[in-house]
Amino acid sequence: MENLKAILYLVATPIGNLEDITFRAVKVLKEVDFIAAEDTRHTRKLLTHFDIHTPLIRYDENNKDIAGVQIIERLKNGESAACVSDAGLPAISDPGSDLVKLAIETNIKVVPIPGANAALSALICSGLDTTSFTFIGFLPRTPKKCREVLERLKSHEETLIFYEAPHHLKTTLKNLSEVFGNREVILARELTKIHEEFIRSKLEDLINQFEDTEPRGEFVIVVDGADDEIVDVADESISDIMTVYQKFIADGLDKKTAMRETAKRLNISRREVYNYILTKES
Ligand code: SAM
Repeated sequence: MENLKAILYLVATPIGNLEDITFRAVKVLKEVDFIAAEDTRHTRKLLTHFDIHTPLIRYDENNKDIAGVQIIERLKNGESAACVSDAGLPAISDPGSDLVKLAIETNIKVVPIPGANAALSALICSGLDTTSFTFIGFLPRTPKKCREVLERLKSHEETLIFYEAPHHLKTTLKNLSEVFGNREVILARELTKIHEEFIRSKLEDLINQFEDTEPRGEFVIVVDGADDEIVDVADESISDIMTVYQKFIADGLDKKTAMRETAKRLNISRREVYNYILTKES
């Protein structure tokens, strides 16, 4: 049973398939005093589908300063609210995060109602390293700032996750390729929808692929992390996990990093490396 007094609920909504909403999300959306939504028309359709009649107010990039204060005032007076975005988790690449900050500053309790999220859905199907990753979201629109961010990310070994609008996708792929080189990339398109697709490719091949076609739908871009250039393990020496692991250790890497790099080098899971080394060391 939820105690719905003076709480800001951050409610995940589907990113395509309506069946991805949770029982708890529907319950909270029905029971709160009001719902703050990015696009009330869009959210109205969702609410109608689930027979939810809770009052809706707009909270978006344009009115967030004024609407934010009004929402907090209502919460302070004991009302409860749900914040939703157009899709997925509120506060991930949308104005919900400002409302959360405001709520915390004014001691309003914030409660997550987890659910669908485009970045993590793309990541788990990417086949790239999921043990450590960096979520970037949308890159800055100005070329200079975009370049700065990418230069900063260039040597990150973790998998990188980007959001992008379809009409910017080609430019972003070119920018990624210019700074990162020809890395492995997965485009997760139209997640959870009828035309869901995972395009697994190299950045340059993808750029060529889109030469004559316009990208359509929603995309998450998942890019492989940078190769570790510090240690050079000769191919012929890759005979077993221990050999590779010990080479990384000898090169000065700590145990955790050495395990991660061993897994990457041998294209096996980190758990496999961890279990193996554990048995050898015990
Ligand atoms: N809050 C959302 C979440 O939790 O995933 C993200 C909102 S952000 C404003 C919108 C971006 O998320 C899109 O431009 C796209 O990159 C990604 N996205 C959202 N839904 C998607 C889907 N069904 N398939 C692929 N990407 C999606």
